[in-house]
Amino acid sequence: MTRVINVAILGATGSIGQQTLDVIDRNPGRLRLFGLTEGTRSARRSAEHLIQGQAGEPDFDARVHAMVTDPRCDLVVVAIPGARALAPTMAALEAGKEVALATKEVLVMAGALVMKAAGQRGIRPVDSEHSAIWQCLWGERRESIRRLIITASGGPFWAHPDLDLDQVTVEQALNHPRWSMGPKVTIDSATMMNKGLEMIEAHHLFGVPLGQIEVIIHPQSAVHSLVEFVDGSLKAQIGRPDMRLPIAVALGYPDRLPDAVPPTALDELGPLEFYPLDEDRFPAVRLARSAAQAGGGRPAVLNAANEEAVNAFLAREIPFTRIIQTVERTLEAFPGGDDGLEDILEADRWARAYVKSKSGSLKP
Ligand code: MG
Repeated sequence: MTRVINVAILGATGSIGQQTLDVIDRNPGRLRLFGLTEGTRSARRSAEHLIQGQAGEPDFDARVHAMVTDPRCDLVVVAIPGARALAPTMAALEAGKEVALATKEVLVMAGALVMKAAGQRGIRPVDSEHSAIWQCLWGERRESIRRLIITASGGPFWAHPDLDLDQVTVEQALNHPRWSMGPKVTIDSATMMNKGLEMIEAHHLFGVPLGQIEVIIHPQSAVHSLVEFVDGSLKAQIGRPDMRLPIAVALGYPDRLPDAVPPTALDELGPLEFYPLDEDRFPAVRLARSAAQAGGGRPAVLNAANEEAVNAFLAREIPFTRIIQTVERTLEAFPGGDDGLEDILEADRWARAYVKSKSGSLKP
């Protein structure tokens, strides 16, 4: 009989956190809610650890640390957005916990350090593309991989090549054709920076060089990603665009939890299309690749500058195309740093301060 797994959720209020609670509720003999953190919204849950507040508050951080390092905790789901997820992720890994990671920024900023702390256990991906690649790689050897192919829906603008991206509104950018997600990742999907971040994430998760990771447009979002092997075989994972599946895969591993989502009816999928990414119209992937190849804190700068620029766009301070331009200018201005944890956090702070200091001149 399988032992019940004690699960802690960092960030239970958001979309991933809510769907994780759903997966736990539906698998009571297998999963148990050990603890959770949430924003200031009132608690509706009974759990041993119920932590309200914001990362950065000393009491909150101390209680999160105690929860994720508690000997009874088995698995930590990391779903708090942004750089604040880094410290509790490292604490959980150093305490020997399994980590299911939804916050891609953690790997973008500090992938080498995080994967070193994870050791042989590795990290269980929650991002749908990485869950797909992970599933394609079960039972395969690293040396058998030729390339990873990350699919992108294209976001709201890819299918409209005549649209002037300088003029698009916040509402248009938030109108994602396939996935329902938070505003930050939805804007990242529209600029394609989401795919740039996911490329860096895949590089660290699976130990595959950046030059062997590609992005292709797949408007139907049915194929969640693919792996090509040295013999020419191509494996894909197909499913509904429903995050409960990658969450269930991460929580159930190495078993599969029954009925996580309704099965995919192949005859209802319709034609599946794949197109190359236009890197001139959407330069974010190229920018992310070169930042990751250069290293020295640049992925952290890419991530932080992007986050600040997305916030400025959502606040209607800059036009859509200025998001990626801001990231590019910030990377150009960055003097370069080292790859230790403190250096990475410093690069993050530097980039945020730089974008804010330039915010006047970034406006049209
Ligand atoms: Mg994704």
